[in-house]
Amino acid sequence: MPEDIYDVAIIGGGPAGSTAATLLARASRRVVVFEREKFPRFHIGESLLPVSMKTFARLGVLEKFEQAGFLRKFGGEIASACDDDGVKFYFKDGFRSRTEFSYQVTRSQFDQLLLNHAAENGAEVREEAAVKEVEFFSDRVELEVADKTGERNKIKARYVIDSTNAHIQGKTRKAEFWLVQLVDKFSEANTAGVDEAVLKDARRKHDEAHAHWEWWTAANGAAFHNTDQAKDSLNRSMVLAQEGIKILDDAIKARRSAPAKAALVAPAR
Ligand SMILES: Cc1cc2nc3c(=O)[nH]c(=O)nc-3n(C[C@H](O)[C@H](O)[C@H](O)COP(=O)(O)OP(=O)(O)OC[C@H]3O[C@@H](n4cnc5c(N)ncnc54)[C@H](O)[C@@H]3O)c2cc1C
Repeated sequence: MPEDIYDVAIIGGGPAGSTAATLLARASRRVVVFEREKFPRFHIGESLLPVSMKTFARLGVLEKFEQAGFLRKFGGEIASACDDDGVKFYFKDGFRSRTEFSYQVTRSQFDQLLLNHAAENGAEVREEAAVKEVEFFSDRVELEVADKTGERNKIKARYVIDSTNAHIQGKTRKAEFWLVQLVDKFSEANTAGVDEAVLKDARRKHDEAHAHWEWWTAANGAAFHNTDQAKDSLNRSMVLAQEGIKILDDAIKARRSAPAKAALVAPAR
């Protein structure tokens, strides 16, 4: 009969949670993963970066990726919604590149594969199990977990890993919202015939706002460790996007009111 306490309880069965679960279970730890959804579930983030390949090899999932038919990806192209020129790059040319490809995946399928892999390696996986409370004691943590009927149970563990990816998600989404507003406003200004110099100013704001947003979405592992920096950066992204919108809004208003004003001026005789 196992002791009534897990070594590690993991909250969240996304890639972070299932990776930790596999490695801990392989190290003979008694691990439980709580995932509030039933997999497969939709998730954003399908373009994998080569930096993850070493971890996938360590987990022993590369063969499963091939069997799943995930597309090998050798590079990428970054294009801006506000510009015509894109930038192509190849992973083999990357700084200290160790692999020339990564994968393009369907996240629902990818996340399920990783979670199943954790279970196959000995982790206990509980889906449709949402962690509602975490209480810390000197020698353990206690988690209150609700199943799909809403019934709550308490479990104990020596350690807990929070892999719910929730630290900056809300702010990231807000920053995304303002970026989209800026892109829409740019199209509106373009159609309204706003001057190229104004469009260029707004494009510059977009590029800066995008860079402040992109860093924390692509590397939100970093955001976990630098939450304050992530918040500052995402706040800055929103300010820049709103400045860009104002530049365009002012120019659109000026443009639309210009012919009306001209009509008020009496023609010279
Ligand atoms: C717009 C956007 C685009 C992106 N594009 C890419 C990309 O192209 N390539 C890339 O590699 N990454 C991309 N990312 C980042 C990528 O999505 C994340 O890095 C990745 O999902 C993080 O994995 P995770 O396991 O930490 O969290 P998640 O995958 O979010 O998993 C967290 C899990 O925790 C569960 N959960 C939450 N709360 C509870 C709870 N209380 N109890 C139980 N379970 C809970 C959730 O249901 C979820 O399944 C993108 C992100 C965004 C926002």
